[in-house]
Amino acid sequence: MQEKLEIRICHLYAHFLNIYGDRGNILTLVKRSEWRGISAEVTAFGLGDKLDIGKHDIYFIGGGQDKQQQVIAEDLQRHKKALQEATDAGAVILSICGGYQLLGHYYRPHEGPELPGLSLIDAHTVAGNKRMIGNVVVKREDGSTLVGFENHSGKTFLGASKALGQVTTGNGNNGQDELEGVAEKTIFGTYLHGSLLPKNPHFADHLIALALKRRYGEIALSSLDDSFELSAHQRALTLPA
Ligand code: GLN
Repeated sequence: MQEKLEIRICHLYAHFLNIYGDRGNILTLVKRSEWRGISAEVTAFGLGDKLDIGKHDIYFIGGGQDKQQQVIAEDLQRHKKALQEATDAGAVILSICGGYQLLGHYYRPHEGPELPGLSLIDAHTVAGNKRMIGNVVVKREDGSTLVGFENHSGKTFLGASKALGQVTTGNGNNGQDELEGVAEKTIFGTYLHGSLLPKNPHFADHLIALALKRRYGEIALSSLDDSFELSAHQRALTLPA
């Protein structure tokens, strides 16, 4: 009798960094797990909360305006070591835009102090002079594509960390080096709102499989009828930047 699989998700600063509907990523992870008989538990994590390291399989941090980032950046520093240990032990992080920016060494906004990042990825972000807004298509090394919507002024520059993929439509990390996001072991960051996962079911499943691997080893996920999601993906591939 196979043990009942479970996925435990920690939604970091759920009430602060939830701009542009990024919580849709949480809903997608939960539904795509439950559709396969995998139970999903979501913990909304807030300022001052204690991180129960070792418990969670996926950490999600969404996007937010500079002022929300300024509020949580200091609190996030309290969990720097714990999140490093969690990801070293195979926990997954999915970070979107403002949350992604705080995974690097720092985010230097237009106004106010430079915000310290977690240095979980080798990257830094500085505020640009124009907002990068519009549709984005990313081509990954395996030939798959990711689609979404960007709205940021921050320009992220990667050091040794690998990009999520190559931008074929839109700006991506900084509108200069044609790179988008970051994919560093089990740590993923991207500027793609939308939210990201509903129209990118293959990537959602990749994250679920990675998260399950932490406690159960390699799990082959059963396939789902993704005709609706993939038709939305195909349509998004044709949208202008
Ligand atoms: N405040 C950051 C920027 O403008 C992130 C915005 C966001 O999360 N969409 O670059």
